[in-house]
Amino acid sequence: MDGYGTVRLRAYESMIRMTLSSLCLQYSVDYKLETYLKIARLYLEDDDPVQGEAYINRASILQIRKKSRILDVTLTCLRLRHTTLTVHLHRLRLSPDPHCPWCMNIPETIEHFLLQCPRFHSHRVMLHSELLALNVTTFDLPTLLAAAGVSPSRQHAIIRLTCAFLRKTGQLPRLW
Ligand SMILES: [Zn+2]
Repeated sequence: MDGYGTVRLRAYESMIRMTLSSLCLQYSVDYKLETYLKIARLYLEDDDPVQGEAYINRASILQIRKKSRILDVTLTCLRLRHTTLTVHLHRLRLSPDPHCPWCMNIPETIEHFLLQCPRFHSHRVMLHSELLALNVTTFDLPTLLAAAGVSPSRQHAIIRLTCAFLRKTGQLPRLW
């Protein structure tokens, strides 16, 4: 691309960046993704792989965030204990009793849901064995929700396994 092309590309880039940052709440993640990839392609065509790669990185970070947003919210809610599990609903007087919908007379606490409820036993057994494969022998809330006490290199993998468990229970809509 000639000098003029580069100037135009820079102008286009700064315009897009301004638009995206000032209106970021109104633009969908998909629009941002598409735009980042478009800019990346322009830079690559302009023989500027460093800038091109920077935009590809931005796009990929955005894509990962988009996928994990729902699970992020769920995990945060569980960590903060602000879930819609029955015990909490009961405390807020939105549910007539604090019991687990599947277990008679057992309060549906986060501990019960994640660690004890027989309804999710098979998923829990799988989660347990996957954690053991990562050399994680503790099976408690701090480990499952925050990968507490685990070396940083394995924390991400543990949170991913917890997220997979949560998805498999089919209870995500009730959890936040
Ligand atoms: Zn239960």
